[in-house]
Amino acid sequence: MTDVPAARPPSVDRLLSIVLANGVEVSEPDALTGLARDVLAEERRRLAVGAPPTPEGDLAEAVEDRLADLDDPLLTIPPHVINATGVLLHTNLGRAPWPRAARLAAVAAGRSYGYLELDEATGRRGARFRAAEDHLVALTGAEDAVVVSNNAAALALAVGLAGRRGSAVVSRGELIEIGGGVRIPEVLGRAGVRLIEVGTTNRTRAADFEPPLAAGQARVVLRVHPSNFAVSGFAESADLAEVAEIAHRHGAIVIDDLGSGALLDTASFGLAHEPTPAERLALGADLVLFSGDKLIGGPQAGLIVGRRDLVARLRRDPLARAVRPDKAILAGVAATLAIYRAGRAVDDIPIWQMIALGAEPLRVRAEWILGQAASVAGRTDLSVVDVDSPVGGGSLPGQVLPSVGVSVPVASAMRAAAALRSGPDRILARIVDGAIVLDLRTVPPFHDGTIVRRIGGLTKPPKASR
Ligand SMILES: *Cc1c(COP(=O)(O)O)cnc(C)c1O
Repeated sequence: MTDVPAARPPSVDRLLSIVLANGVEVSEPDALTGLARDVLAEERRRLAVGAPPTPEGDLAEAVEDRLADLDDPLLTIPPHVINATGVLLHTNLGRAPWPRAARLAAVAAGRSYGYLELDEATGRRGARFRAAEDHLVALTGAEDAVVVSNNAAALALAVGLAGRRGSAVVSRGELIEIGGGVRIPEVLGRAGVRLIEVGTTNRTRAADFEPPLAAGQARVVLRVHPSNFAVSGFAESADLAEVAEIAHRHGAIVIDDLGSGALLDTASFGLAHEPTPAERLALGADLVLFSGDKLIGGPQAGLIVGRRDLVARLRRDPLARAVRPDKAILAGVAATLAIYRAGRAVDDIPIWQMIALGAEPLRVRAEWILGQAASVAGRTDLSVVDVDSPVGGGSLPGQVLPSVGVSVPVASAMRAAAALRSGPDRILARIVDGAIVLDLRTVPPFHDGTIVRRIGGLTKPPKASR
């Protein structure tokens, strides 16, 4: 080993020989080659912009550090963040935190072999493990159910029932962009299904669906819940029961994409009523699709419920294989749904616990944070503020829950928010009128101490502006 800076970076072989001489042991030495190449590529980039050469010993250490990082479980999961935005279903933060039972079920499923697709009685290949599907049947009254990787996949799979170059009828008011640039017409196009638009942007009546169906131009009607926006004013959307009656009279089926879907009545928590899969099936939908990680509150999944013959056709579709969930996810979904069946969703599912929280307990916590920030950090300029928590994640557009937050005056809100976003205890906060606001609805109470400590690290505004 030498500490004399080299004019050119060492060769991969030279670097590896130093690493191995340092006593690093791996069963597959090729893994080290890849890491050494990465370190040398970075060194060449540094040299290209005129930086001084790094000593060979330091380069070898960089390879060893990268090797150690691969053993650090914290680097294999998205960095933990305290969500103080109040947005309950934040798609960029991974939507719903899972119930404890779902976490345990997923880990247990991942730990060992299991009868995922093997029949215990015959010892041969059998039907896929169906605990999640059985729960869905029990919870929605559907004839059958199937779980896929997410709701966008459920949609792509379900519209395939129109057949290659078949058509689906959709209201112009429901040709939405789901999010992340995914648009309903494009999903249909990609599935090889022709789109027949009916009605207008603001008004579509059931009768608008009749002409293309009567002419035999389409065998599928697609309803899409306008989950991320609200229409007000001169607006009307077609009644599902009437549309289903027309569709069935002409031999067509109705696929209802609910987006979030909910298995509890959101109206009993002071929110607008989010349609439930059971209601939509009762109104005549043949298949209902919804997400596992929106208001269901579990792992990412696409949940499909409805007619037995249609679900059977979806299962046989080659695309179903491409969008099937992993065993750990399947276990997590089943565990989440079991909580609903046991009647404990508000107690045990984090998203419903947060929805059910009243403002008063949040106010008590906010007062505690104020007291601590004053005594620990000398911050006496904080205040308790009323805020609104949006549900988010493509559900209940425009709907909010009255919540309580802590407002922290700061010198620069942008800089303070950026500081809170990083570090070992990351906090995502809101900025309101130049102050940092922490909405406590989405913060588990055991993080309140961390919030106090991090508030203490923020720069106060200059005296004149207070
Ligand atoms: C969110 C949403 C989807 C997509 O669901 P993912 O589970 O995110 O794939 C599809 N349709 C509607 C109406 C939605 O709101």
